[in-house]
Amino acid sequence: MTLDTSRQYTDKELRSAQFLCAKPEAQDNLIGTLPEGADLVRLENLYAVSAATPKVRCAGCGSRLHRHGFTGLLSTGQRVLLGSTCGAKAFGSWEIAKRELDGLRGRQYYLAAIDRLTENADAIEREFDLWLGCATALDATVAQFRAGMPDLFNALWGSARRGGQLTSLKRVQVRTIRQDGSMRLTTRDDVVGHGAVPGKAVFEVERAHWTTQTARAAIRDLLRAGDNPNGITAEAELQARKARAEATVRSLEELHTAFEGLPALFAPASLSMIVDWSKKVGHLKGAYRKTPTGLVRDDGAASVSLSTGYAPPSHELLDLLQDMTGRNVNRRAA
Ligand SMILES: [Zn+2]
Repeated sequence: MTLDTSRQYTDKELRSAQFLCAKPEAQDNLIGTLPEGADLVRLENLYAVSAATPKVRCAGCGSRLHRHGFTGLLSTGQRVLLGSTCGAKAFGSWEIAKRELDGLRGRQYYLAAIDRLTENADAIEREFDLWLGCATALDATVAQFRAGMPDLFNALWGSARRGGQLTSLKRVQVRTIRQDGSMRLTTRDDVVGHGAVPGKAVFEVERAHWTTQTARAAIRDLLRAGDNPNGITAEAELQARKARAEATVRSLEELHTAFEGLPALFAPASLSMIVDWSKKVGHLKGAYRKTPTGLVRDDGAASVSLSTGYAPPSHELLDLLQDMTGRNVNRRAA
């Protein structure tokens, strides 16, 4: 027998591979001895049997002493069980073999995630349609706000980017006593907080429609590239696709927060807070008022209406896509 354990799993084989085996002697195509002229071409799994079951026979040396060992694939397509000593000679140590199988399991997980994504391709397309509608509404509202009330918009935008707090400066007088006993009056500007910027994420996402379209194109590319069902997708290519998918999901997560931020921004309590704050900010000088339908500038030149009826899209698209990034395992399993 010669040893050449370099045969890799094709993507197709990898999908159904089991890397830990509890019933080694129940595997298909198992033979009890190493035949003449057959090559050992691959490690199939590590096996471990419980103390309650009989020990396992090694096809290498014939001893029946093993609770832990290796299943190997032969060039004939048959499988053999090797004990810890004979197996370690063929495949390196148990630890080396385990590391190798862990790497394969990572590939296997990704391929399974791509398969689920492919199965859900229609649902994903429908969710993207819904997102595009929400993104159009978000962009239109932001554009109206920005164009109609640039001072207020920019002040909120700046606050959102500087830690997300609405602050103003309050001038206070400070009395100090000099060494000769006389009093000195000075002034100082104190920072006063008025609360957090409502719907902060709205100011952090630019061009929601564009972001959604870009994400959709990235996911379509990913599905079109698919995998290499009868071959072996290069590890570097697999990693590059995974990284792109993860970046896409991150951009959609940020966008979803912005979708949820829009109703928060236009909630009546939020508008009251913004108006109160604007009265305290020097360059805004309280030029804005709240009305039953939204905000108006005091000179009547501009108004932003409450975005009634606006609802953010559901979390379904993110559920479908996060599955692929491995960050949503519990959610999908639940
Ligand atoms: Zn042996």
